[in-house]
Amino acid sequence: MTHVRVLPKDDGPAGWTAILPPRTPRPALQGEARADWAVLGGGFTGLAAARRIAKARPQDTIVVVDALSVGEGASGRNSGFAIDHAHTLGGGTAATESARGQKRLYTAAIRHLRGLAETHGIECDWRDCGKFHAAASARGAEKYLKPLASELEAIGEPFEWCGRAAMSEAIGIDHYEAGIYTPGTVLMNPAALVRGLGDALPANVTLYERTPVKEIAYSGEIILTTKQGQLTARNLIVAANAFMPALGFGVRRLMPFVAYASLTAPMSGEERTALGGRRAWGITPANAFVAPTIQRTGDHRILFREQIIYRPGLSFSAAELTRVRARHKELFRARFPMLDGLALEHTWGGYLCLSRNQDSVFGALGENTWGAGGFQGIGITRGTIAGMLLADLAMGIQNPLLEDMMRLARPPANPPRPFTDIGVALRAAWEAWAERGER
Ligand SMILES: Cc1cc2nc3c(=O)[nH]c(=O)nc-3n(C[C@H](O)[C@H](O)[C@H](O)COP(=O)(O)OP(=O)(O)OC[C@H]3O[C@@H](n4cnc5c(N)ncnc54)[C@H](O)[C@@H]3O)c2cc1C
Repeated sequence: MTHVRVLPKDDGPAGWTAILPPRTPRPALQGEARADWAVLGGGFTGLAAARRIAKARPQDTIVVVDALSVGEGASGRNSGFAIDHAHTLGGGTAATESARGQKRLYTAAIRHLRGLAETHGIECDWRDCGKFHAAASARGAEKYLKPLASELEAIGEPFEWCGRAAMSEAIGIDHYEAGIYTPGTVLMNPAALVRGLGDALPANVTLYERTPVKEIAYSGEIILTTKQGQLTARNLIVAANAFMPALGFGVRRLMPFVAYASLTAPMSGEERTALGGRRAWGITPANAFVAPTIQRTGDHRILFREQIIYRPGLSFSAAELTRVRARHKELFRARFPMLDGLALEHTWGGYLCLSRNQDSVFGALGENTWGAGGFQGIGITRGTIAGMLLADLAMGIQNPLLEDMMRLARPPANPPRPFTDIGVALRAAWEAWAERGER
């Protein structure tokens, strides 16, 4: 029996949710329930897995449980980039093959999400506007962008190299030395999309929200003990991402981090004119640990994601959020001096999950148990496709994309704590200093 070490808690609303109409969550599980499949986690990964099983096995029953409401977890708290290609894998044949495989995986995920958003009329500010991967310094352009350009060339992906003037014309600020524009990334309000997916599940899927799983036991069947009930299932899909180690899976291979984001008020007409640039754009930074991810939304807000901090205990305080908010304000003003009066309306944190070599946990985890997690900050696409492929794997369905996914499924073991904690802290401090030019 596994006692779950840390349960997700209400960390306050993300800006993405705060700007949506209210939604009534599905009831929590009360008493006993039984299903062919239990899916633990109602983010992009769990919902994709549940849908896939439901479609392939219409006679089976599937129950999804989440400790929070759908959209309150990381899937609704991120920067809203559905990314379609890998970022710099280090060169060489294996890296090129991995880049090709990742492109196939993420494109399939975007196609799947686009189809569902259209079919179910999910209004999530879906924008096919691509993104810029941008460096603030000449050193950053050399170190991060040049290898990415070679990689994209090697796999035949279209891209545009934008110099300082082109970057400034596209986004309205003179901050970036260079950027690589790729057209395939989609921007969105991720909370609206994941909520919509939760509300559009097939009829043989039951979703229980606000249903934390406190214990997992195996006795012929799998028994999940929740706060107010018990779910017995023949099979279990674990899709809890940063919480996987707290559930006893991916321990020492997956590392939970907290990342923070802020969302401004909508820009006025005057502010839009003062900023200039394209109507919608997104920037992923050459180094995501020291520089912000930024998105200009369809309703003329600006999303600003900055700081990623190792947090194995999966928590952050209100005081920390206040400090981050002040920091975001300062960094935002420095980058967007023409938007001096624009309020940062919302600031929040969320958990993402990294491994040392950027791989994910994916596959069989135990008796009739499969899991996927550790999506390296690209979980909208990698999580979605991992959920779909995990379902295929569990059902024994052949899928040519499984080979691409398995290539990303070897996260190495880290030393035990506190050695990992010390190592990550030293690396973060070094990175902040060495890469300060990217800030
Ligand atoms: C600030 C920020 C910015 C990011 N930006 C991007 C981006 O732009 N693009 C991108 O692709 N990715 C981004 N990410 C990462 C992305 O959000 C994740 O990779 C993605 O949400 C993973 O989806 P998931 O379904 O696997 O996990 P999650 O969305 O974390 O879902 C897991 C669910 O499991 C539930 N759970 C955990 N433990 C239990 C339990 N014991 N009982 C019941 N339920 C439980 C949680 O409540 C949660 O809802 C970002 C993350 C953050 C925090």
